[in-house]
Amino acid sequence: MTSGMGRLLLVALVAMPCLFTFLPANAAPLACGTPLVRVDTVDRALHARICEIVASALPLLENCHLKLTKPVTIIFSDDLENAHGPCFGLFHPGKKQMELLTPKAFAQAHDKSDSWGAIPVAEHFDVIVVHEFVHALVDQTARGERNCTADEEYIAYAMQIESLSETTRSALLEDVDASPPISLEELNPILLGFAPPRFAVKSWLHFSEPGNGCDFIQKLMRGDVTLWLYPE
Ligand SMILES: [Zn+2]
Repeated sequence: MTSGMGRLLLVALVAMPCLFTFLPANAAPLACGTPLVRVDTVDRALHARICEIVASALPLLENCHLKLTKPVTIIFSDDLENAHGPCFGLFHPGKKQMELLTPKAFAQAHDKSDSWGAIPVAEHFDVIVVHEFVHALVDQTARGERNCTADEEYIAYAMQIESLSETTRSALLEDVDASPPISLEELNPILLGFAPPRFAVKSWLHFSEPGNGCDFIQKLMRGDVTLWLYPE
């Protein structure tokens, strides 16, 4: 009986963190402290992490004309692909959903990718949250149809690289070997397709040049400028 009780206690002790850490699997997406943002996970630590990233990024994004005015739900998957192959995150405009890899699947994808090795995996996960959240905000803010993917990716990557720590950003800049000034012709859909990290770093360098910054982001969202190679 004593050993049975001991076993029971052990099970209870082992199980306890789970009781406090996980929500029931059928729970609705749980709201963040930030209004309009919900995270669909039973993992409370992951929920808290995503809410914290969004809350920390919002002032930067709002300063750049990216306002949160409509609901966004963040969901998770073990495997993400778009038309171009595997990806770290996706935004589904119709459903107003951001889809992210679970941290475990993200770590595997990060290790497999030879493009983003300059960014530590945990920091990479966090800035991908920012990247996809920017897509959600552009969807809420931009006027009319957006036909050029590069226009939107410029905004998402500029905010992603801006959100890195200085140390990591310096390492990435060194890895990619790009330096200002960056012409608009360099920031085109072909570079985006073939070398996303170069497109990302060049977007941030262009964004960081005096006279560009959030004003340039606003122009992209208004359709006043485009990175499309053959604007009408
Ligand atoms: Zn993107």
